[in-house]
Amino acid sequence: MSDKIKLAQGAGGALMDELIKEKILKYFGKDQKNEVPLSMLDDAAVVDDIVFSTDSHTVQPLIFPGGDLGSISVCGTVNDVSVLGAKPLALSAGFIIEEGLSVETFEHIVKSMSKYAKIAGVPIVTGDTKVVEKGAIQEFMINTSGIGKRTQLLEDNISVVKEYRSFKNRWLLDSNLVKGDKIILSGNISEHGIALLSFREGYGFETAIKSDVAPINSLMERSLGIGGVVSAKDPTRGGLANTVNELSEKSKIGLIIEEEEIPIPVGVRSACDMLGIDALEIGNEGKVVLGVVEEKAEEVLKILRKHPLGKNAAIIGEATSSVKGVVLDTTIGGKRILHKPLGDPVPRIC
Ligand code: MG
Repeated sequence: MSDKIKLAQGAGGALMDELIKEKILKYFGKDQKNEVPLSMLDDAAVVDDIVFSTDSHTVQPLIFPGGDLGSISVCGTVNDVSVLGAKPLALSAGFIIEEGLSVETFEHIVKSMSKYAKIAGVPIVTGDTKVVEKGAIQEFMINTSGIGKRTQLLEDNISVVKEYRSFKNRWLLDSNLVKGDKIILSGNISEHGIALLSFREGYGFETAIKSDVAPINSLMERSLGIGGVVSAKDPTRGGLANTVNELSEKSKIGLIIEEEEIPIPVGVRSACDMLGIDALEIGNEGKVVLGVVEEKAEEVLKILRKHPLGKNAAIIGEATSSVKGVVLDTTIGGKRILHKPLGDPVPRIC
C-alpha cells in the first residue's frame, strides 16, 4: 500500500519540513533567481522587491474565544509579509465553503476579515469563492495571499544595523542572526492554541485565556523605527520552539534561551501541565520573535512595551557560538536542548 499524508505532516514541525523538502521543493524550488526564493522557506518570498506570501487557514471550530477563521486568515498573512520588514499593501481572499454552512456564520467571518483588514490598514482587493459538496471539506477554508513593499523605515533600520556590524541582506531573513544578537519575544505565548484547544475540547481554560490573534505590522514598524532589527518571525505553528530552531538552523548559529524570561501566563501553564503539552510548542497568532543587534535590544524592547500588543515583551535569549542548536537555560537551573517539535501538539488551529 502506498504512503498516505498524515495530519502531523501539516503541523509546522519537523515532519512538515520533511514533506516540503522532499516532495515540494524538489519540483518548485530549483533555479529560482529572485532575491528571497522559495527554497529559503522564509515567511514570505521577494520578487522584484515585492514581498509575497500565502497561507491557507483551516480551524475548528470556526469561531473561538478571541477570534475566528476570518481574523486569523487576515492576520496570518499580514504578519508573514510584515516579518520580512515590508509594509503589507493588499490581500487576496479565496473562500472554499462546504455546502450547508450557515449564512450567519459565513457573514460573521467575512465581517471579521473586514474588521481586521481595517485594523491592519491592509485592504482585501481580490478574491474567489467556491462552494463544494458536503463532506468535501470541513465547513469553511480561507486562503489569503498578501503583497508588501520595501520602505524607507526598513532602509533606515538596516543602516542602524550596519553601524554595529556587517549586514549583507536587504530583508529581515531567518538566516540573518550572528553571534551576540539578542532574541526578543513580543509577549505572552501559547494563548491562541490553548484557547482554541480548550474551547474545542470543553476543558474550560478559555474563560481566562483568549486567542492572541492580531496584526503585528504596527509593532514591526515601531521596532524598525528604532533600528537594529536583523530578523523577525511569527511563532505560529510549532510555537516558539519551532521558531527559534528555524532561526538557529538557517542562521547556522547557536541560541541560548532563558526559560525564566519567556512570558507564559499562569492559565496557560496550568492548562499545559494538565494536558501534558509543552507551552513552547503551541501556536500563536499575534506575536513576533525578533533578532536585534545587542546595542539596540534594550531600546527596541522599550518601544515594544509601549505598544498594546507588546506589553509583556522580553529579551529571551541570544545568539552564541558556545552552543549548537537551541539550548534552553531552564528555570530549575539546568540546561536542555530545545528540539524542533515533530508537529504542533494542537491540530487545526490556524
Ligand atoms: Mg510565519
